[in-house]
Amino acid sequence: MTVMKKPDLDVIIIGAGVAGLYAIYRLRKQGLQVRAYEAGDGIGGTWFWNRYPGCRCDVESMEYSYAFDDNLQQEWKWPERYGTQPEILKYLNYVSQRFNVMRDVQLNTRVTAAHFDSGTNLWTITTEQGETVSAPFCIMATGNLSTPRFPKITGIDDYTGEKYHTGLWPKEGVDFTGKVTGVIGTGSSGVQSIPIIAKQAKHLFVFQRTANFSLPARNAPLEPEKERKHKEEYVERRKAAYSTPFGIAGYPPPDKFAAEATSAEREASYEAKWAEGGSISFLFAYKDLLLDKAANDTASDFVRAKIRSTVKDPKTAELLCPNDHPIGTKRLILDTDYFETYNRDNVTLVGIRSNPIERFTRSGLQLTDGKSYDLDAISFATGFDAMTGAMREIDIRTDKGADIREKWQDGPRTYLGIMVSGFPNMFMVTGPQSPGVKSQMILSCEWHVDFIAAAIEHMRGKGLTHIDAEGTAEDGWVEHNNQVADSTLYPLANSWYVGANIPGKPRIFMPYVGGVEAYTNKCKQVVDNGYEGFQMS
Ligand SMILES: Cc1cc2nc3c(=O)[nH]c(=O)nc-3n(C[C@H](O)[C@H](O)[C@H](O)COP(=O)(O)OP(=O)(O)OC[C@H]3O[C@@H](n4cnc5c(N)ncnc54)[C@H](O)[C@@H]3O)c2cc1C
Repeated sequence: MTVMKKPDLDVIIIGAGVAGLYAIYRLRKQGLQVRAYEAGDGIGGTWFWNRYPGCRCDVESMEYSYAFDDNLQQEWKWPERYGTQPEILKYLNYVSQRFNVMRDVQLNTRVTAAHFDSGTNLWTITTEQGETVSAPFCIMATGNLSTPRFPKITGIDDYTGEKYHTGLWPKEGVDFTGKVTGVIGTGSSGVQSIPIIAKQAKHLFVFQRTANFSLPARNAPLEPEKERKHKEEYVERRKAAYSTPFGIAGYPPPDKFAAEATSAEREASYEAKWAEGGSISFLFAYKDLLLDKAANDTASDFVRAKIRSTVKDPKTAELLCPNDHPIGTKRLILDTDYFETYNRDNVTLVGIRSNPIERFTRSGLQLTDGKSYDLDAISFATGFDAMTGAMREIDIRTDKGADIREKWQDGPRTYLGIMVSGFPNMFMVTGPQSPGVKSQMILSCEWHVDFIAAAIEHMRGKGLTHIDAEGTAEDGWVEHNNQVADSTLYPLANSWYVGANIPGKPRIFMPYVGGVEAYTNKCKQVVDNGYEGFQMS
C-alpha cells in the first residue's frame, strides 16, 4: 500500500511584496497553513529592491496603500502626496508587524522550480538551496516588475567602473559626488533619479533611446485637511475605486470628447491639469484621449510645448520631445524637475536611437559613430522583463507535460490573469491579461488575492480539491484582451506593455486595458455563474 505524503502546507506563496504579504494575512484568516518564499533578505518587493534616488510612487499615497483594514488606513500617516521608497517600505514593514505576517515568510529563498503532480494533486517547489516544499495550491505573487534587466550589449562585463541597476540598488545608497556618471534609460526610474544624480555628479551624461512623456508630480507635504477628509471618506472611496478605469477614486470621469472643446478651452483644461500635477487627472481631460489619435495629439502637443518652453537649449528640447507614441500609451511618468535638469551645465543628453551604444569599454562606453564616453559610474534604468519575466525564470511544469516557458513562448495566455489552463491549482496575482499594471496595483493585488481565497474557500466547502482554467475560457479571454487593446491607441507604443525593451520577446499586448470596473464586473459574473470558465473537481 502506498502511503500518500502529507503536504507541508495548504498554500505555497512565492514572493513577499504587496501581494504575497496580503495573501498570507487573507488565507490565514481562512484557517489555511501558508508560507511565502521570498528571494530578498527583506519583505516589500518593488519597494525593497528599487532604492534608487528619487524613487517614489506615482499614484497618490492615500490611494496607493492597503484597503483591507480600516483601522490600518486610519492610523497610518503618509507625510507626502507621493510616498518615497523608504516611506513605502516602512509602511509595508509596519503592516507586516501589525498583522504578524513575518512568521510565515521565509526570506533569502529564491524558488527555482514548481512542479505539479496530478497523482498526489500537489505542487512541489524547489528552492535555490535545494529545499522542497509541497502544497495543494501555489500562488505566484512574483510581481510584474521584479526581474531587472541589463541591456545585452557587447563588453558590459569588461566595464570596470561602478555599475548599478535602479531595480537592484545597493541598500547603503550611492554617492555620485565628484563623479562623471551616466544614466542609461529614460523611463520612470531614469526620470525619477536623473534630477537627483545631477545634483551630486560632477557631470551626468543621460543616454536616451526613447523620449517619454512626463508630467509634473507637484509632490508636497500632505495637507492635514486633505488627509482628514480623505480618511473620513476612506471606506466609500475604496469601494468607489472599483467602479473606475484605473482603480482610483476621486477623479471625475470626463464628459466631453476633445473635439467638442475649442482649442482655447482645451489649452485651459490641460494647463489646469498640468498645474494640479498627476497623471489620472490629465488623462481624464477628455473621453477619447486614449481612443482617438487626433484627440490624443492635442494633449501630446501641449506637453511637447511645455518641454520646449522649459528646456533652454532648443536641440536638447527637441530630443526630449516624445514623437513615437501617443501620450498615455506608455505608463505616464511623474517627475520633479526632470526637464529643468537639462538646463544645468553639468548635464548632457545623448540621443542613442540613431546612434546606439556599440559596446562598453573598460572605462565607459562607445557609440556606433565611434564617440566614446569615460564614466566613473553607470546607472542602468533599463527596466524589467515585465509581467512574464519572474514566472518564466521559475521552471514551472506539470507531470502532464505542461511547461510555462513553452506555453508562453508566443506571449502569455491566461484566464482573467488569474490562472493558466493546464496548470491546475496554480494562481497568479495580477498576472498578464489582468488590469494589474494599468491600475492602482495594491487594489488589484487585493482583488486577486480575495478572488483566489474565495475560490479556495468555495472548493473546500464543496469538498473539491482541483481547479483549472478551461482552455476555451482562456482562448476567449485572450481574444477579448486583444480586441480591447486593438480598440485603443495602446498598441501604437513600443512599450514594456508589449515587451519592447526585451530583445526577442514576443510582441503581445500584455495588460488588460478594458479598465478595473469592466474587469471586476467580469470576475463577479464568473463567480455568480458558478466559477464559469474554471473546471473544479
Ligand atoms: C519603481 C516602481 C514604482 C512603482 N510605482 C507604482 C505606483 O505608484 N503605483 C502602482 O500602482 N504601482 C507601482 N509600481 C508597481 C509595483 O510593482 C506594484 O504596485 C506592487 O508593488 C507589486 O507588488 P507585488 O507583490 O505584486 O510584486 P513585487 O513587489 O514585485 O514583489 C514580488 C516579490 O516576489 C519575489 N520573487 C520573484 N520571483 C521569485 C522567486 N522565484 N523566488 C522567490 N521570490 C521571488 C521578488 O523578490 C519580490 O520581492 C511601481 C513599480 C516600480 C518598479
